[in-house]
Amino acid sequence: MRRVSVFGATGSVGESTLDLLAQRPDIKVAVLTGGRNVARLAEQARAHGADLAVTAFEECYRDLKAALAGSGIEVAGGPGAVVEAAYRPADWVMSAIVGAAGLAPGFAALSQGRTLALANKESLVTAGPLLLAEARAHGATVLPVDSEHSAVFQALVGEDIAAVEKVILTASGGGLRDWPLDKLAEASVADAASHPNWSMGQRITIDSASMFNKAMEVIEAREFFGLAPDQIEVLIHPQSLVHALVGFNDGALMAHLGAPDMRHPIGYALNWPDRAHLPVSRLDLAKVARLDFAAPDTRRYPALELARQVMAAGGASGAVFNAAKETALDQFIAGHIRFTDMAPVVAETLDICAARTDMGRVPTTLADVLEIDAEARVLAGQAGLRRHRSHSGAA
Ligand code: NAD
Ligand code: MG
Repeated sequence: MRRVSVFGATGSVGESTLDLLAQRPDIKVAVLTGGRNVARLAEQARAHGADLAVTAFEECYRDLKAALAGSGIEVAGGPGAVVEAAYRPADWVMSAIVGAAGLAPGFAALSQGRTLALANKESLVTAGPLLLAEARAHGATVLPVDSEHSAVFQALVGEDIAAVEKVILTASGGGLRDWPLDKLAEASVADAASHPNWSMGQRITIDSASMFNKAMEVIEAREFFGLAPDQIEVLIHPQSLVHALVGFNDGALMAHLGAPDMRHPIGYALNWPDRAHLPVSRLDLAKVARLDFAAPDTRRYPALELARQVMAAGGASGAVFNAAKETALDQFIAGHIRFTDMAPVVAETLDICAARTDMGRVPTTLADVLEIDAEARVLAGQAGLRRHRSHSGAA
């Protein structure tokens, strides 16, 4: 029987994955991992008859153990246990942990030759070349789960990548799309964490409002499809029904349309290379009636320009970019910096790192990447603190 494991099972992508798996008695759930929400993780593990449930936080281990007492389900806790769980036998592994914490389990799964369904975009942004090399070295397959990348991947079936002129990733523009530019600095976490079309985790929703999410996706597309930076464009599309477009050298533009429901790209990766029935709503284009597109305003979305800078610099800059972005996001959520401070904090961190020879090295191992990540977080934290102080008027 086919075995699958879900890393980040209690999150938004994880829940959608389990929703599909609930309808697949032909698939055995091997490992489920989560974070602090151990009650939900235990519920999922029981409902799906998992072999092993892992919380990434050691301090949550006892609660998870208690919640699964008598179930016969094995329990583990801590970041090391999450990575170890990725070595367990599985045919298909969902990588849906949020942030750089998703890196090590993904590498472990690839080292075992697994098929990795990659929702964790941070993996490709911070360590794209290393991750894909690891997959090649072990005959493993990486499948995109991010909806835009799944759309491109589907538009490329049977096509020659050499015939591709450009890839267009669409973006809703996020929850603050229509706010006046001069009001953006006042946006609260709640304002930024509301998405017009997609229901997602809090962090990625705020990243959609700032378009750091799209910036990450541009880098992700470059890494995954091996495209040149200027072949990747971003287009605002408020309805979120066209997920991406691929432009070919004969002028054809292939668009992927569908309801904004992550169960589509997850299900495509689960059934790949076949297609199977999926419980997602069907688009009624007569009802939709119109689709709008616009070029993004770079003043509103400075993150897009930072992605260009990162792609031009290469080397460690993807890891620095992601670490600085995660740190700035933490600071915004904690109320220490403003919404409009996030991009300057990331830009400053990139500049500081570019000027430091020790940070300019090209990472050649996962340990290198994690070291650069840790250093960049400290620098971004300091940059954020400087902005915080300048707002509060202190020296
Ligand atoms: P989420 O916040 O809803 O869930 C994250 C999961 O990771 C949870 O299971 C959580 O317990 C776990 N987790 C959190 N911190 C952890 C840590 N330190 N170690 C181990 N596990 C930890 O996130 P999400 O929205 O489901 O997104 C997951 C990933 O998928 C992200 O990389 C995101 O960018 C990507 N993604 C999400 C969507 C979406 O629709 N939500 C779409 C495309 C890509
Ligand atoms: Mg996406």
